[in-house]
Amino acid sequence: MPRVAVYPGSFDPLTSGHVSIIQRGLQVFDKVIVAVALNVRKSGALFTTEERVAQIEECFEGQNVEVDTFSGLLVDYVKSRNTNILLRGLRAVSDFEYELQMANMNRRLNNQIETVFMMTEESHFYVSSSLIKEVARFGGDVSGMVPEHIIDDLYEKLSLQG
Ligand code: ADP
Repeated sequence: MPRVAVYPGSFDPLTSGHVSIIQRGLQVFDKVIVAVALNVRKSGALFTTEERVAQIEECFEGQNVEVDTFSGLLVDYVKSRNTNILLRGLRAVSDFEYELQMANMNRRLNNQIETVFMMTEESHFYVSSSLIKEVARFGGDVSGMVPEHIIDDLYEKLSLQG
């Protein structure tokens, strides 16, 4: 059986930190499904779900990466994809508390599902989608923190917002 990991998130937008986790995930798993959350809690997204999916697809063309969307309980989605591996990234201690809570809740909902964490690379330690949007909004340089093809999308979107 090929080992398939589901990597869920908002990816608004995909950052070099996410890219690194996906690339490293591919060293361990046969395939990574990047699952873009149709999130109830995080409203006010900058990019539409379709835009985020297209951005991620472009980044991993030709690799064993599938991009999908999900709503509802993550554990149900993971099960529906016939796997039991959830992949998440960890940056700082601040991520840890939330991730520990989520992993435990998901285990309680379905104890077949295992959450696997990968530590961020040093260079991506401070990279987050929200911070990148903030920096770009004020004209700061985000190159190297977001895949090249997403940078133009980012400035364009932000200029449309005014
Ligand atoms: P969520 O809304 O679920 O937090 P994100 O898109 O912000 O979604 O992040 C998805 C996953 O990627 C989370 O596990 C998060 O901790 C991880 N992640 C985000 N940024 C980085 C980074 N710079 N390095 C490593 N992991 C990261």
